[in-house]
Amino acid sequence: MKRIGALLLLAPACAVGRWEETQTEHLTIHYRPGSHAERHLDEVRRDFEAAYLAVFDQVPFVPEDPAYDVYLHEYPSNFGWSNLVLRRVHYRYDAESQLTSPHEFIHIVLHDLNPDAPGRLDEGICRVREARTITANGETQVCELYRLAWNAPADVWDLDAIFARGYSGDDEGNTAAACVKWLQAELGEDAFWELYLELDRSNYRELLEERAGRSWAELKRAFLAFRDALEPPPPFHRRVR
Ligand SMILES: [Zn+2]
Repeated sequence: MKRIGALLLLAPACAVGRWEETQTEHLTIHYRPGSHAERHLDEVRRDFEAAYLAVFDQVPFVPEDPAYDVYLHEYPSNFGWSNLVLRRVHYRYDAESQLTSPHEFIHIVLHDLNPDAPGRLDEGICRVREARTITANGETQVCELYRLAWNAPADVWDLDAIFARGYSGDDEGNTAAACVKWLQAELGEDAFWELYLELDRSNYRELLEERAGRSWAELKRAFLAFRDALEPPPPFHRRVR
């Protein structure tokens, strides 16, 4: 008891670590007192609620428990990350960068749908509609991340790796996005999501062969043909290969 009392007395001195919160229809948004987020709270509330709703333009399932916590950070080393178990998304939101993409929300919705789904494929689903604005030599272009996969080394363009291995960088995330783009075109979006619900790291070959009506070797060739038909990224963002 005594110890708890002492901690409570100390609390006002620790205001730096304090979080404020604001509620939107689906989200509890946490931000630091005095932060960029606090100074732009109307925009924060509007933009994150919109980002959450945008998830369901892309993922055709609404979770039963739509309770999400959003934490906004100033100048972290990562731009966004999520805690699937605690259902928390974290975003960088400061004077220089205000990230408000559906990406981290999608990770949590996917985890609720199928916790056994291959992690690299999940990253691809989060990225498949994302794009990057690239400026070089006074020229600005927007390029979808699945097209940036054009830059990835040949050995990353491997269906088995996408379904059976983890994810640790942009080349892997972008080739997984290309795989999702390809599969949704190959199977149709509804069949893609039916497949997704059953997928894990060991059953993907048989499920894909069955759904697509093609052998694994044929599917691997078709994926590489999709790569070769991609419109390459802007020249100033192409890797020499
Ligand atoms: Zn991600």
